[in-house]
Amino acid sequence: MSLQSNIEWTDATWNPVTGCTEVSPGCDHCYARTFAERWRGIPGHPYEQGFDLKRWPERLALPLKWKKPRRIFTNSMSDLFHKDVPDEFILQVFEVMVQADWHIFQVLTKRPARLLHLSEKITDRISQFAPAGTPWPAHIWLGVSIETIQYQWRLEKLRQVPAAIRFVSAEPLLDSLMMLDLRDIDWLIAGGESGPGHRPCKPEWIRELRDKCVANNVAFFFKQWGGRNPKAKGREVDNRTWDEFPMDAYAWQSA
Ligand code: SF4
Repeated sequence: MSLQSNIEWTDATWNPVTGCTEVSPGCDHCYARTFAERWRGIPGHPYEQGFDLKRWPERLALPLKWKKPRRIFTNSMSDLFHKDVPDEFILQVFEVMVQADWHIFQVLTKRPARLLHLSEKITDRISQFAPAGTPWPAHIWLGVSIETIQYQWRLEKLRQVPAAIRFVSAEPLLDSLMMLDLRDIDWLIAGGESGPGHRPCKPEWIRELRDKCVANNVAFFFKQWGGRNPKAKGREVDNRTWDEFPMDAYAWQSA
């Protein structure tokens, strides 16, 4: 939980749930797990329970208290759609996001099948705060992580969710995503893996994604090349940085 974040594509993190379990090769060097496990067993520390899943109901209302508009990465230390998070708790998270409409919320999952399964209930809950038939609010962005083309199915699930803004996080990028279908996708984040044991990210994989995004009018954000630490190889692709967003994160409020 932080009012500031080192993650380049967000401003703040909000973790009403912490902890998770691995689902695919992109989880092999999960930064959240590494961070959380460092504190396991330390009495009174927020990660005393390590990376075991824990709900924090007392954190639910936090974004409503943050008056300055921010891009907020929801559950940077977990996956909101993990099977052990009860439906009602997920709906309460959406309730807060709908109400705190001066922020942008960025929700990223590797479990879009559950997101899709819950999407009708989420739509119903959203409609309690807006006229019936109102589409999902544009300030709640929904994304899936895809590390290899084998996980393209996650995007197929996401496409069926009536989110206003859909995005893909291709990080850590572990193979070419040249064949990725970007229909109805607004934003793509790409990046290599960093930290001990990082796996290589080939420059052509990033260039392919950049070119696909440009050709398909999808906003492209290049996070970093990866390496022994996130800054080891920088953020430039062919001498420029790519910091695009699907919409001006704050201007939309006054539109
Ligand atoms: S889904 Fe995300 S938070 Fe959960 S283990 Fe994998 S990388 Fe970590």
